[in-house]
Amino acid sequence: MEDIYFDHAATTPMLEEVIKAMKPFYNQVFANPASSHLQGQKAASALEDARESVAEFIGAKNAEEVVFTSGGTEADNLALKGAAMAFSKKGKHIITSQIEHHAVLKSCEYLKKHLGFEITYLGVDQNGFVDPAELKEAVREDTVLISIMLANNEIGTIQPIKELASVARENNILFHTDAVQAAGQLKIDVNDLGVDLLSVSAHKFNGPKGIGALFVRKGVELIPQLSGGSQERKRRAGTANPAAAVGMARAAEIALKNLKKKSSKLNKLREYFISQLFSTFDNLKLNGPDSEKRLPANINIIKVRIN
Ligand SMILES: *Cc1c(COP(=O)(O)O)cnc(C)c1O
Repeated sequence: MEDIYFDHAATTPMLEEVIKAMKPFYNQVFANPASSHLQGQKAASALEDARESVAEFIGAKNAEEVVFTSGGTEADNLALKGAAMAFSKKGKHIITSQIEHHAVLKSCEYLKKHLGFEITYLGVDQNGFVDPAELKEAVREDTVLISIMLANNEIGTIQPIKELASVARENNILFHTDAVQAAGQLKIDVNDLGVDLLSVSAHKFNGPKGIGALFVRKGVELIPQLSGGSQERKRRAGTANPAAAVGMARAAEIALKNLKKKSSKLNKLREYFISQLFSTFDNLKLNGPDSEKRLPANINIIKVRIN
């Protein structure tokens, strides 16, 4: 029997079209995009086209607002540490939730341990939701950054980011969201959401591993977390990876095109699978929210112990 892969929250397979799009950039258009010669310019132009596609994927109006990183983890680190360091003169308080990915939680711990930040970890209700009213109460004079994920990678909760981000905006505080698990399953629009910083990672939507992006709203200052060259408009040093960027862009274009159809198909499959599980086994419990507030591809079920 053929294996069935049930772990797309951890990573997804690369599409053939993505692999095909990447190939020329390994040994044909392989020049350093920072080189000024013609071959370098070709690589740079592919990199900038890829940036446009990723910008469109997340609804950013300006491709300059997209910073390529080595993945979701680095995007989260750059958002949290970069913004905290840039705004530390204004204050040293950050608000996040108890159910963030480790890339966010450990960045917060780092800022607390090494740079003296104070962190408030908002709790969530039994379905994983952060309450905007609770966020409002947690805001202080010295709060400089709020980071709440768009959708949770374990129980699929889709947070009310628009409402949460508006609390930040009203108080003149930067808002970051980790959209790594949501990208490819939900339509993402940074302007509709009203966020200042947003992380995505290609390998979660059928792109290559080792590349992601951070949306940095125009005018938002970040302290770079890598010291070196002036790549990515001085926000992320290191020779860019055009092959990976092109792969991410192709995956983003395909994901965007198929989003509606794929999400509704996944929603139906998820509901069918859950109903089959419940009618086949006893004492199951579904963790996380009901259908519309849950990521299309997420199921989290435990077997309740009885005795
Ligand atoms: C996978 C994931 C990450 C990490 O992304 P990488 O590209 O694997 O570093 C961060 N946040 C969430 C919510 C994720 O699901």
